[in-house]
Amino acid sequence: MSSTTQKHPKGLYVLFATEMWERFNYYGMRAILVLFLTKALLLDKVFASQLYGSYTGLIYLTPLLGGYIADRYWGNNRSIIAGGLVMAIGEFVLFFCGHFYENAAIATPLFYTGLGCMIAGNGFFKPNISSLVGQLYPKGDKRIDAAYTIFYMGINTGGALGPFVCGLVGETGRSGDFKWAFFAGGVAMLISVLTQMLFQKKYLKDPEGNALGEAPANAPKWFQKLPVMVGFLFLLSLVTIALVYIDVKVVSYLFYLLLGCITLIAFIVFSDKTLNSIEKQKILVIFVVSFFVIFFWSAFEQAGASLTFFAEEQTNRNLGWFTVPASFFQSLNSIFVVGFAPVFAWLWIKLGKYEPSSPYKMAAGLMLLALGYFWIATGVNGVGAGIKVSMIWLIGMYMMHTFGELCLSPIGLSLVNKLAPVKFGSLLMAVWFTANAFANKLAGVFSALYPENGKTTSFLGYQISNLHEFFMFFVMMAGTASIILFFLSRKLQKLMNS
Ligand code: GLN
Repeated sequence: MSSTTQKHPKGLYVLFATEMWERFNYYGMRAILVLFLTKALLLDKVFASQLYGSYTGLIYLTPLLGGYIADRYWGNNRSIIAGGLVMAIGEFVLFFCGHFYENAAIATPLFYTGLGCMIAGNGFFKPNISSLVGQLYPKGDKRIDAAYTIFYMGINTGGALGPFVCGLVGETGRSGDFKWAFFAGGVAMLISVLTQMLFQKKYLKDPEGNALGEAPANAPKWFQKLPVMVGFLFLLSLVTIALVYIDVKVVSYLFYLLLGCITLIAFIVFSDKTLNSIEKQKILVIFVVSFFVIFFWSAFEQAGASLTFFAEEQTNRNLGWFTVPASFFQSLNSIFVVGFAPVFAWLWIKLGKYEPSSPYKMAAGLMLLALGYFWIATGVNGVGAGIKVSMIWLIGMYMMHTFGELCLSPIGLSLVNKLAPVKFGSLLMAVWFTANAFANKLAGVFSALYPENGKTTSFLGYQISNLHEFFMFFVMMAGTASIILFFLSRKLQKLMNS
């Protein structure tokens, strides 16, 4: 390929930086979330796990709304800046929560407010920044795949730096210091917003040189007025604060809400009379694939919950001259992505016509995830409670999980893009996000099975009384999903190409 076809518009690097700082904020905060809950707010692991599931589940649900509002009313740019500022507010509220952590009457409401703002803000930020990347190029441009790979590097540069910096300033062994992690996250979010504000006008242009991310011409102007936007985001944040609080403290409704969303979308799409049977078959593939990724992410996203408990309590982190904070382990996935994404990209090209089709790659991704858990299950086999194992088990596991991610995640998104009829593009992207939301909520449920102090937990009849059994649960789940998907792959491939 010549250098001219390889060259990317400058706007891509603006989006890279904006997304990098936002992911720093999100993953940095997530790296210390369950530690803050258990060490500073003194909540138990079951509660911390459930909260983690509700929070991260909702994080993937609000993009449905944020994408919808941007497409019809605000445009991408406005939505990104608004969402980013709401998230920054969330981090600073959490900073004050961390400051008053000893006083539950102050810390608790601040905590839910902070989380609610993060959820509301992310909904406006994440879908809109991702969609801008593709808009920088003409339709069908060969560089788009490479652009998303570069963008994925931005995500993971932030994902590596966030836990590292937030862990360093927040996880010091003193409960009062957690607040500095939230503070660092808030500052990172402000840098992200500032980057977007400073450079969007100049560099975010479509191939014809028209400004990108503007509100649609026919959008009602009153809804773009600053006080109206602020009022809307304020009300929305109140709703998301209530949503997370109710799911954690009152009644766990999120699973039902998500199932409702999926059923509704399936109904809307499959009852559409204008779609022909080939289009419907392709849509069916999107649903099937989205179903399988639930098994992937629900095991993968243990990173921010049970695997952080494991890093904290059962991993020997003492290097002699330095004790590695448990939160640092959450950087590993991103570090491996940055290191290995080019290798995978190269591998697929090298395989040429032998490159496996998307469903096979996804089955392989699930198997690699299962292998990662098998590796760590081996490491803890027969190890008594309270004994710490080598870091190599977590590091090796995260490496295999990352290989799995690189097989499954980047192609998942493009698969949805390719298979969805234009008319239902966003709605079917919503299926993908909802599957992610479901998986994250489920991750919280699974993390609550984490065994400690001889306690036995069980899931669908499977008893877990030690770490080996806990990790083997994920081996069986992801392994079984992988094998089933493997055998379905041929059929799916037929449906996709028909
Ligand atoms: N790590 C990626 C991100 O933060 C992908 C996460 C996912 O799709 N669940 O964007």
